[in-house]
Amino acid sequence: MVLQDLGRRINAAVSDLTRSANLDEKAFNGMIKEICSALLEADVNVRLVSNLQKSIKASVNFKELAPAVNKKRLIQKVVYDELVKLVDPHAEPFKPKKGKSNVIMFVGLQGAGKTTTCTKLARHYQSRGFKACLVCADTFRAGAFDQLKQNATKAKIPYYGSLTQTDPAVVAREGVEKFKKEKFEIIIVDTSGRHRQEDALFQEMVDIQTAVKPDQTIMVLDASIGQQAEAQSKAFKETADFGAIIITKTDGHASGGGAVSAVAATHTPIVFIGTGEHMLDLERFAPQQFVSKLLGMGDMQGLVEHVQSLKLDQKDTMKHIAEGIFTLRDFRDQISNVMKMGPLSKMAGMIPGMSGMMQGMDDDEGSAKLKRMIYIYDSMTPKELDSDGKILIEQPSRMTRIAHGSGTMVREVEDLLSQHKSMQDMAKKMGGNMKNIQRAQGAM
Ligand code: GDP
Repeated sequence: MVLQDLGRRINAAVSDLTRSANLDEKAFNGMIKEICSALLEADVNVRLVSNLQKSIKASVNFKELAPAVNKKRLIQKVVYDELVKLVDPHAEPFKPKKGKSNVIMFVGLQGAGKTTTCTKLARHYQSRGFKACLVCADTFRAGAFDQLKQNATKAKIPYYGSLTQTDPAVVAREGVEKFKKEKFEIIIVDTSGRHRQEDALFQEMVDIQTAVKPDQTIMVLDASIGQQAEAQSKAFKETADFGAIIITKTDGHASGGGAVSAVAATHTPIVFIGTGEHMLDLERFAPQQFVSKLLGMGDMQGLVEHVQSLKLDQKDTMKHIAEGIFTLRDFRDQISNVMKMGPLSKMAGMIPGMSGMMQGMDDDEGSAKLKRMIYIYDSMTPKELDSDGKILIEQPSRMTRIAHGSGTMVREVEDLLSQHKSMQDMAKKMGGNMKNIQRAQGAM
C-alpha cells in the first residue's frame, strides 16, 4: 500500500468515528482495528502495530471520560501522538561541527540510493557553508566510481577514488586523510552495497570503519523495503552501528511501513528522506511533520520553510499566522505561491486538507482546480478578502455573487471556504508556536 493511501485510510477511520452519532467504545475499537489493519498492509511490523493498538486503547478511557471532554479532539490527538511515537526514536541525530573534519560513512544495500544520497547530502552541507567532499570506497562494483564522479562534478563537489586500488579500506583511508589535510569539514565516504557473500560485505564495512573512524555512520534504506526491513536493519546495526537512517525514494509508490519498522527496531532516527532523483530532492525528516502530512493534516511548518527558501513575499501571512490570524487573502496568496512553486503533487500535501482535495488528480487537473480557486478569490471584494470568511457564510448572497462573477459553482465557493476554515483553525493553533519555529529556523 502506498504511503498516501495509508494516511488516507487512517484519516478516514478517525473521521468516520468522530462524525458518527454514537461515539461509543464499540465504534472506537472498530476505528483502532481499521488503523491497525491499514498499518499492517503497509508493512509495519506486527509487534509495533500491536503496541500502538494497546497505547491508543490505554490513552482513552471511555468510562472515565467526562462528558465535557471533546472526544473528537482527544481521539485525533491520541492517534496522532502514537503515530509520531512510532517514527520518533527520541534519539538526537548527529550535528556536524564547523571548523572540524566530520567523517560520515554511508552503508546500505546496493540500489538503496547510497551514491545518489551521498552527493545530495554533501551538497546540502555545502550550501550551508561547510567545505564538503566525497570519497568512493566502492571498489566492488565497476562503474561505482564513475557514477560518484559524475554526480560530484555536476554538484561541483571535490571527490576521491581509485581505478586501480582494489582494497576499499585503503581507498577510504587515503581519501579521508587527504581531505582532512585539506581541512574539509564534511567528508562523506560511500561504500559498496554488495558482495559475493553477505559476510564479506559486513567484514568490509568493519574494515572501512576501522580505517576511517567515522563520526557518523548512516544507513540508507529504500522506502519500498517491506517486511525484511527489521531483520536487515538489525543486521547492519549490529555490524556497523549506524547512528542515523536516510529513507530514499519516498516519492515513489512505496508503502514506507518497512522503513518505519526499521527505525523502531534500531532506535535510530531518520535524518533525511530522499524525495526524487534530483540533487535537491533531499528533505530533513521531522516526525511530527511526517505524520501531519500522512494524515492529510498538512505540513504548515514544511510549507513555511519551503516558502521562506523561495524568498517569496510572505511578510503579511507570516505575521498573521504568528498572531493566530488567517484571512481569505492569506489563503489566496498561499495558493498563488504554490502555483509558482510546482510540481503540484509535492506541494499540495503541505496545505491542510489539500492532499485529500487533489486526490486522484494529476498535475494538470490540480493546476486547473487551483486556477478556479484563484478566479473565486478574484471575484471577492477587498473587504471579503481581508475577512475570516464569516461574512460570506452569514450572507450566502455574497457566495452566489462570487460564483457568478468567477464562472464557478456556489458549491466550489463553499468548498473553498471550508478549506480555508481548516487552515484558519491550524493557524490559530500555530499562533503561539510560530515564533518558536521562526526562532529555531533562524538558528539553523
Ligand atoms: P546505490 O547502489 O545504493 O549507490 O544506489 P544509487 O545511488 O545508484 O541509486 C539507485 C537508483 O535509485 C538510481 O537510479 C537513483 O537515481 C535512484 N534514487 C536514489 N534516491 C532516489 C529518490 O529519493 N527517489 C527516486 N525516485 N529515485 C532515487
